[in-house]
Amino acid sequence: MTKITIRCSNCGGENVMRDAWATWDDIAQAWVLGNVFDAAFCDDCETDATIVERPINDVPEAPRCS
Ligand SMILES: [Zn+2]
Repeated sequence: MTKITIRCSNCGGENVMRDAWATWDDIAQAWVLGNVFDAAFCDDCETDATIVERPINDVPEAPRCS
């Protein structure tokens, strides 16, 4: 399976985030990700952004432990 990265369509940066809800999990004792919404924000552009998915071709896989 090809790994992907999420980038800003405007600047190509990776400092993008999505609006989301987190819900509390009593068993895990942590906030877990619930819904993820379409709205996105780019930290580099400091404005609302459109995000694009790109395949990771240039990033080598980490060596596996044997
Ligand atoms: Zn950007």
